[in-house]
Amino acid sequence: MTARTPFPPQLVDRFGRVVSYVRMSVTDRCDFRCVYCMAEDMEFLPRARILTLEELALAGRAFTELGVRKLRLTGGEPLVRNNVIKLFRDLGQLPGLDELTVTTNGSQLVKLAGALRAAGVRRVNISLDSLDAERFRRLTRTGDLAQVQRGIDAALAAGFDKVKINSVILRNRNDDEIVPLVRYAAARGMDIAFIEEMPLGVIGDHDRAEAYISSDDIRAEIERVYDLIPTTETTGGPARYFRLAERGTRVGFISPHSHNFCDDCNRVRLTAEGRLLLCLGQEHSVDLKQVMRTWPGDIDRLKQAIVDAMAIKPKGHDFNLHEQPLIFRHMSHTGG
Ligand code: SAM
Ligand code: SF4
Repeated sequence: MTARTPFPPQLVDRFGRVVSYVRMSVTDRCDFRCVYCMAEDMEFLPRARILTLEELALAGRAFTELGVRKLRLTGGEPLVRNNVIKLFRDLGQLPGLDELTVTTNGSQLVKLAGALRAAGVRRVNISLDSLDAERFRRLTRTGDLAQVQRGIDAALAAGFDKVKINSVILRNRNDDEIVPLVRYAAARGMDIAFIEEMPLGVIGDHDRAEAYISSDDIRAEIERVYDLIPTTETTGGPARYFRLAERGTRVGFISPHSHNFCDDCNRVRLTAEGRLLLCLGQEHSVDLKQVMRTWPGDIDRLKQAIVDAMAIKPKGHDFNLHEQPLIFRHMSHTGG
């Protein structure tokens, strides 16, 4: 048998970018149907097509053995997957992992915040686009604001190092809530990040170009009330951060359209179906589910497939709000 070349200590793509952060979508399902994320009548994948919890745990191990330091579980809504806490526990014990995080809509946090903290999660991102119950219902189509706010309180009580709010702002839908959302976060010691809407999947609800508000406009709106101090801080993701002078709350902007972040990209995504997606805005991918199902439990084959995939990580996305989406995959499949 020929000796195999040792695996590299880090994943590096052909542009020299080190990939140290993986977002894993643990399910495409969700209890909400946010207007910018899903169509009203979504069809979800049959169970057999999505990775099992064991496959997800194996993938997490393979990534960390290849130098990945941060794993974020997302979806769909990660916390609606049965027994997902077991996956958090398995991943939380991986040597070499600096950070295990989750992005959630908050609907299950009353029940699960304590278990997540106990499993080793130290930071949580919770999506919240409105503080008005009726409007929240319209934006999420099914969500209950009070339940999410109780979830946020449960997360704050569970002792995470950081709880961050994520907000997507749409013109004429919730753009009058920018300052109230900042105030809500600041009053509770939370950070907040504003995300520009990305053209992923056909949503049928609104014209994305008409709804677009740039991060600079959002920032200007906040600066009518608060002083924002620029910082060079990063949480290892694409957000640019400022701090509120009065309170120290961090305010981030994720701006795929107005401030392209591809040059410093350190991320890849694993879709719920087990495709390793090399860029959120392109289709370059490698089917890791096939590798795992052809050679069950063979972590070396899996690691080799991941290392080889770095050769096709594209230079950047080319999102264009004025054209029909080129990417038909919804954010919920992708893992936002
Ligand atoms: N269900 C969880 C949640 O809502 O936090 C996790 C998955 S969700 C896809 C992750 C993040 O992506 C959320 O903060 C959501 O607001 C954001 N998102 C969804 N669709 C988006 C889109 N088309 N453009 C920008 N952000 C989007
Ligand atoms: Fe569900 Fe999150 Fe998408 Fe909303 S943004 S529909 S909560 S996956």
